[in-house]
Amino acid sequence: MGQLPLIELRQVVKVYSSEAGDFTALRGVDLSIQQGEFLGIVGKSGAGKSTLLNMLTGVDHATSGEVTVRAGSEVSIHKLNEDALALWRGQTMGVVYQSFQLLPMLTLLENVMLPMDLCGLYSPRKSRERAMELLRLVEIEEHAKKLPAFISGGQQQRVAIARALANDPAILVADEPTGSLDSVTADHIFDVFEKLVAAGKTIVMVTHDSGLTPRFSRHLVIADGEIVSERIERLTVGAFDEVGQKKADEKQINKQEIDHRQEDQPSAEEELQQESGPILRTWPKEKKEKKKDKKDKKKDSKKKSGEKKEKR
Ligand code: ADP
Repeated sequence: MGQLPLIELRQVVKVYSSEAGDFTALRGVDLSIQQGEFLGIVGKSGAGKSTLLNMLTGVDHATSGEVTVRAGSEVSIHKLNEDALALWRGQTMGVVYQSFQLLPMLTLLENVMLPMDLCGLYSPRKSRERAMELLRLVEIEEHAKKLPAFISGGQQQRVAIARALANDPAILVADEPTGSLDSVTADHIFDVFEKLVAAGKTIVMVTHDSGLTPRFSRHLVIADGEIVSERIERLTVGAFDEVGQKKADEKQINKQEIDHRQEDQPSAEEELQQESGPILRTWPKEKKEKKKDKKDKKKDSKKKSGEKKEKR
């Protein structure tokens, strides 16, 4: 048996209530994330990506369903009160936002030290040393004494990543972290994330940019509050840490790909449109319906051209 998922969502529903009425932003999401994954959650604006992220960080409560995180001990987020949740989140998750959210009056070093000082896991001396180490890790230590306003956006995002790592969380959560960066700078941020995944971190990243998907180890596509497809690019180290286990799971993934294709053979045209990597889940039913529509249309046009010929 494989190891239990690091993060597990079961039938998570989120309904926002306002004066205008209820709005269902998540419709019974099931999701398992293994340790060591670099998971992308991709979808258009309004699809429910940030809502999903807020469910797994516990920033917001699910209306129904269960969220379990197994970083060290097993925690059912939906059962924690606000204080316990805040403490747990501070030690378990590092969060990176699109807008960096560094404190402008603190130096980069002080920004990275802040979560350590708040959580009290490290002595002041140790927290300063660790902050410098983290700034070195993201290759920005020579600017340590500067204020955020005096470095570029890409550099600020590096500092934000260093800050997210301050309390050595098992999980890094990033909401559109490259959304306000040019593509070259965004690429460098991905390099940093990949380095962290190689070092054993688990990263969950939200983006509306489907062009970024090949860089994730797996990505999900979310639309109207539901996961509509899922694709693995490569196996993750943490998820398959034993050699025997890795082989077994590799076979299983290949088999799942074959099973899927046998059930729902895509046309050559569809194949070309697809990105590389095995598919685990798509909308076979809808695809079949689309194909049926295409066939029906072909039949109709053949029929019509036959009728025309007869008329002539
Ligand atoms: P995404 O991150 O994919 O852009 P969100 O998760 O932010 O999408 O939002 C999903 C849907 O839920 C959107 O239609 C949004 O308008 C709605 N929504 C988000 N937050 C709230 C809220 N606090 N109250 C009411 N509706 C909300």
